[in-house]
Amino acid sequence: MIQDPAFPVEPWVVRETEVDLDKLAQTESVFALANGHIGLRGNLDEGEPFGLPGTYMAGFYEVRPLPSAEPGYSNPEAGQIIINVTNGKLVRLLVEDEPLDIRYGDLRRHERVLDLRAGVLRRTLEWVSPAGRSVRIASTRLVSFVQRAVAAIHYEVEALDGKTPVVVQSELVANEALPVTEGDPRAADALTSPLRSELFREHDTRVMLAHSTRASGLRMVAAMDHVIEGPPRTEATAESFEDLGRLLVSADLVPGEPLRLVKFLAYGWSSQRSLPAVMDQAAAALAEARHHGWDGLVADQRAYLDEFWDHADVEIDGDSELQLAVRFGLFHTLQAGARAERRAIAAKGLTGPGYDGHAFWDTETFVLPVLTYTAPHAARDALQWRHLTLELARERATSLGLNGAAFAWRTIRGQECSGYWPAGTAAFHVNADIADAVVRYQAASDDDEAFASGVGIELLVETARLWRSLGHHDTAGRFRIDGVTGPDEYSAIADNNVYTNLMAERNLRAAFDAAQRHPQRAAELGVDDEEAAGWRDAAQAMLIPYDEELGAHPQAETFTEHEVWDFDATAPEQYPLLLHFPYFDLYRKQVVKQADLVLALHLRGDVFSDEEKARNFAYYERLTVRDSSLSACTQAVIAAEVGHLELAYDYLCEAALIDLDDLQHNTRDGLHIASLAGTWVGAVAGFGGMRDHDGILSFTPRLPQALARLTFRLCFRGQRLLVKVEHKQATYSLLQGSSLEIVHHGKRATVDAQRPLTRPIPPPAARETPSQPPGRAPERR
Ligand code: BGC
Repeated sequence: MIQDPAFPVEPWVVRETEVDLDKLAQTESVFALANGHIGLRGNLDEGEPFGLPGTYMAGFYEVRPLPSAEPGYSNPEAGQIIINVTNGKLVRLLVEDEPLDIRYGDLRRHERVLDLRAGVLRRTLEWVSPAGRSVRIASTRLVSFVQRAVAAIHYEVEALDGKTPVVVQSELVANEALPVTEGDPRAADALTSPLRSELFREHDTRVMLAHSTRASGLRMVAAMDHVIEGPPRTEATAESFEDLGRLLVSADLVPGEPLRLVKFLAYGWSSQRSLPAVMDQAAAALAEARHHGWDGLVADQRAYLDEFWDHADVEIDGDSELQLAVRFGLFHTLQAGARAERRAIAAKGLTGPGYDGHAFWDTETFVLPVLTYTAPHAARDALQWRHLTLELARERATSLGLNGAAFAWRTIRGQECSGYWPAGTAAFHVNADIADAVVRYQAASDDDEAFASGVGIELLVETARLWRSLGHHDTAGRFRIDGVTGPDEYSAIADNNVYTNLMAERNLRAAFDAAQRHPQRAAELGVDDEEAAGWRDAAQAMLIPYDEELGAHPQAETFTEHEVWDFDATAPEQYPLLLHFPYFDLYRKQVVKQADLVLALHLRGDVFSDEEKARNFAYYERLTVRDSSLSACTQAVIAAEVGHLELAYDYLCEAALIDLDDLQHNTRDGLHIASLAGTWVGAVAGFGGMRDHDGILSFTPRLPQALARLTFRLCFRGQRLLVKVEHKQATYSLLQGSSLEIVHHGKRATVDAQRPLTRPIPPPAARETPSQPPGRAPERR
């Protein structure tokens, strides 16, 4: 499955030395640039050829009907879909009278480099036109982390042999034609011409286009301005139309005298502000970008990333491909969330239209653990986004006959957009996942009281209310949560899913604790002693099924009694199973799409013994097919914990290489952000053994044979910890702060600012390595 490195291996850059038209759509995702607010797929400057053109703004969507064959009470009737907004990346080139198109003429050299430290995408090429004119082009693109509304392109073209007339066309294009997607439910449903022109205008080297959506009523403005540097008699004119803005720059080039164009782009959108207000916003962002200049933007980008890497880098000695992949994963996790600022972080980030641009539990369970410890402000913002959807979640709970809040399973703006309720609405665990992310952020933050007494307590209280009304105490007094779907989407509507119940238990306890700590705030939210005691009692009585005979936990009650899926009769090309078998059959057999009970072993590892973890892991390994990219990283974490270090290494590499190697053959639709974030989780919680139960950081580091050293950094309560893991010992140092209490392999210790703490690493317990369903083992590393 995992072949030779798809890209040459370098520590800080993803380099493509030859363009492969068959892989264009995949590389457009890999080379996407985003800041959490604006996302530009890595489309070629000249726009064609393309795999999938894409320009996105977080939260900018259109509404479309969600017809269902058999309408049911409270099923959503409308969905939201991210739309491809005005494309400002375009810089076309006419050489003499021939448009630059790499499918024609002679492409002598073509290189693209995603620089993870500089935060830019560079492209260089040499092209000979069919008429024999050769040019060299160098372009650099960035989406600014510092100026949230701004992107910029530095474009340079040089003639290589003799005087060559050229025209550079810098464009804004709305309503681009998109290729039709085939029948994979995970791909996006492209809307044709989603934007309606409101205004177009040009002046000097500036052009602005304003559009709005028809049904969602959102308004957006895209604007561009330019700085041009060329030989004498270089001329520029701008023009604009409803869906097209263009600056035409003509020059006669001679070797050694290139034409340089800096294109500044600004994007803004609003659901409420007037057209003049959104135009002003974009104009101001553009003026600021221009004032800062290209060099200023590049320097700010570098400084932002220097600080990020200083707080977040993971160094791996012994596998340079994994090293690059881990950094690639971290970079894209940052790009997905850095400046999202109260907008959803989608499952694909802003790299493609997959899953219609929806956010899922992926955000809280996979992305936020990483951001909490590396860029805490972004984790806080993401939770504030959830909080903004609270009113809708309350309405949803009411319509389901429940109390509190039922947050959307998949959404952009907060409304439930899943038309398939068994794997949408019934996956109530998303509510406990949000609560878990709140608890984690609060424990790791530097005493963020404003958050805890505001957004934090409200999210905890409303989700606890949901659980209290969704579950009930049975005649034996046990608290049951029946008829829900856990993380594994090959099971649905099951009773007492262990993951869900354990996460709900933490949620209920956290709400009880928050009400004790903030009594006044709790009273304002209508919480009285009786209600809080009800949460505590439900948590204490939570039913966790256990199969005595097997000595393992059933994923949900009766799961282990189901027939085991006939793996031997399943051909390799029948995976993913969801595209080849009906759900009814998957639901009634023992076959696991993605870590479910095993995820409980990770996130609620505090309630399982070592032996239980080992037995459970072995049991679920032989049933888990990893048809979801949200699985390998969790399997890496638990494999490492129970001592299967080489298996953990295989899983970590699979999670890390998912998009660089296009392992699921759908990277074209966008990157798998949960898996990329999961790469950090696999390294830090897997081989670093980091856990954060009950507000203290604990570590059980252990390395696989191939790795000589793993070094990672964490932000915790305003302090910064550096952990260096080698085979025999681990060293903990404080990069910032005075003293931090940690646990190393079960023993408490204090790390002081002055002295690094070094502790020996005990050998893992010897256990037989479990097997996977035939053909579903991770590729050996
Ligand atoms: C997984 C879900 C996940 C979604 C988006 C599905 O395949 O089963 O758990 O939330 O993808 O990544």
